[in-house]
Amino acid sequence: METVALNGVKVAESPGGIEGAGFFATSLDKAVGLARKNSIWPLPFATSCCGIEFMATMGSHYDLARFGSERLSFSPRQADLLMVMGTIAKKMGPILRQVYEQMAEPRWVLSVGACASSGGIFDTYSVLQGIDRIIPVDVYVPGCPPRPEQIIDGILNIQKLVETESLRRRDSEEYKAMLNKYGIE
Ligand code: SF4
Repeated sequence: METVALNGVKVAESPGGIEGAGFFATSLDKAVGLARKNSIWPLPFATSCCGIEFMATMGSHYDLARFGSERLSFSPRQADLLMVMGTIAKKMGPILRQVYEQMAEPRWVLSVGACASSGGIFDTYSVLQGIDRIIPVDVYVPGCPPRPEQIIDGILNIQKLVETESLRRRDSEEYKAMLNKYGIE
């Protein structure tokens, strides 16, 4: 996150705009993007080992709070980012999808690790071979398991998407068509 020091306190850098004596003007998209980017509330959907890496990511050494994401949400309705970490059995697929559907727009999805992204080493009848078979994914984090640095890299990539997303995207025909492909209204 780009920050600037203000009276010894680090604050997020303001977006580009027009500045003059006593005023600063920017677009609504950029102001909303800045606020959203730095206040992402993740919902951790952790089923196995990758979840342990996420716990390390939340600890004081890696400290996800630096990115405004220290407030985890275990209620889908109060979450912006669904983080899927671990092996997802096919039986669990409908539950994951229900959690996604209960999240309010705008929502993003981060697939953490090989299992969530592709089934990983579990190329077997009972394991979902990638969560993007049932819900759309915005960013994939590779690794088995990914290190906390990689999970943070994934969050930073999500932040880039969040910051630059048009306020009209969620109402666009393209976005609705993408959801329809998954059978989501
Ligand atoms: S990707 Fe590897 S570390 Fe992560 S849940 Fe699967 S087996 Fe475990």
